[in-house]
This record gives sequence, C-alpha cells and structure tokens, in this order.
Amino acid sequence: MKTAYQVLILCILFVVSWVSVVHAKLNIVATTPDLGSIVREIGKDKVEVTSIAKPTEDPHFVDAKPSFIVKLNKADMLIDGGLQLEIGWLPNLVTGARNQKILPGNPGYVVASAGVPVLELPASLDRARGDVHPLGNPHFMLDPLNGKIVATQICNRLCQIDEKNGSYYKINLKDFVARLDQKFSEWQKKTEPFHGTKIVTYHKTFPYFAKRFNLIVVGTLEPKPGIPPSPAHINQLIPMMKNEGVKLIVIEQFRERKIPEFVAEQTGAKVVILPIMVGGVKETDDYLSFFDYTINQLVSALNAKS
Ligand SMILES: [Zn+2]
Repeated sequence: MKTAYQVLILCILFVVSWVSVVHAKLNIVATTPDLGSIVREIGKDKVEVTSIAKPTEDPHFVDAKPSFIVKLNKADMLIDGGLQLEIGWLPNLVTGARNQKILPGNPGYVVASAGVPVLELPASLDRARGDVHPLGNPHFMLDPLNGKIVATQICNRLCQIDEKNGSYYKINLKDFVARLDQKFSEWQKKTEPFHGTKIVTYHKTFPYFAKRFNLIVVGTLEPKPGIPPSPAHINQLIPMMKNEGVKLIVIEQFRERKIPEFVAEQTGAKVVILPIMVGGVKETDDYLSFFDYTINQLVSALNAKS
C-alpha cells in the first residue's frame, strides 16, 4: 500500500510532466542562421531554434558536427535552404538522425527556396565541372523580399504542425512583414543615389541583393561558383573592371584577402568586406539588423569613393 508521501510524489511528477507537455516548445533546426532568424520571428517563445551553419562560415562548405544529428533526431521541423546549398553537408546528418518528421513530403520538412523566384537558372546541370550552383543561385536570402516569402512559408508550416497556436504565428508574421516593409523603404532610400553602380564580388553571393537594390555585378573573382580565382581569370578581369569603372569589390567575411586586395590595387576599386548571414558581425543579430548593417557599410564605402 502506498504511503501518503508516495502518492504526493506521484502527483507532483504528474503535474510537472503535464506542464512540460503543455509548454513544450517545437524543436526547429535551420540550416543557416538567416533561416533560423526568420523562424524565431514567427515562432517566438513557442520554438527552440538551432542553426547548423555558423554565420561566419561559407554556407557551401559547413563543418557540420555530428552533434547536430541529435538535434535533428529530436526536431519537429527542419528548414533547408535548398538549391543544393547544403548538399555537401546536410544529407549525412539527416540520414543519421532517423527522424520521419523531417523527411521530404512531411510538413516538418521545409525547403525555403520553394516559392522564391530563382536567379541564374542554368540551361544544363554543371556541377560535374565544379559549379556549386547547379540548380540556380542559392543565396536568395540576401534579398529581403525573399525573406518575406520564406517567412510566409514557415508560418504556414508552423500552423500545420501546431494548429492550436496558428493565430499566434499569423500575428507574428504580420508584425514581421510590417517591420520589414518599413525597413525596406528606408533601405531603398539609402541606396537610391547609387543605382546602377557596378561592382565585382568574390563569389556569386550577391545577385539577389544587387538586383533588389539596383547594383550591377559585372564579374566575380571566382571564374565560376566554387572554383578559386586563377591568374588567367584575374588577368582578364582587371582590364574589364577598368573599362567598366567598377568602384567596389564586395567580398564575404570568410574569404582570403590577398587576391581582392591585389585586384583593388590594380583597378582603383575599393574592397568592402560584408557578412553574408545573420550574426556574422555583432550588429547583425537578426534578419532586419543584418540588412541595416550591410546597407550602411555599402553606402559609406560608396560615399567615401565619390
Ligand atoms: Zn554560392
């Protein structure tokens, strides 16, 4: 026969586990910090978010630690950027996780690029020759309006897997979109004087950003995405940049600096180093502050130039 003490302990345990079930957060794994930031905006206190890629890493070549398998095993949702950005490091983690919820075809598997107008769609698959953008350019999160498309998609999926909190997610989406729209008009005003400015970038990271803010990417230091700069390519690039009057060489924060600096010296262009994901520098702790920072950096580089 149970003593009153034992009954009391059982009651406490029941209450504790009931409370933890009621207040359990959804476990979300996002491949990049940008996607992580968006799901935090929509899910707020109802989600626990893990991002796999570090903001300072090249998202094509992420050092994905096996500890992420445990996170993926417990995940209610996986947000994958898609367009093969993560092909070199995500599939093994997902296989190891053995979690039905985050497999293709289930509501817990989100491909963020679905619904985004993809740039640089190739006429034929080119990965065999080293191109890491075989399905089109995967750096779509650098257009803030694509962030809006992705946020809507994530909101729909959260509503699907956690119906009871649907109205909460929808309110958060509405609030996020309103803040983004307001910021977007500020960013447009700031960049307006520089419409048509010609830039060169290291990798094809910035076409979405450039298109949205009316900059023209006339070349890249890499001969093709994922292939390091070669002397032959750089020797062609330098006269072209002089001809075109290129003012800026925009490079991602994780790139080597020697080649961009050499090209800058030869052409009179200026090197600007930018984070390409949320959290890359301390001022960029969410998706909107990321664009605040990036646009301010670009504008001050262009102002200094003129
Ligand atoms: Zn790329």
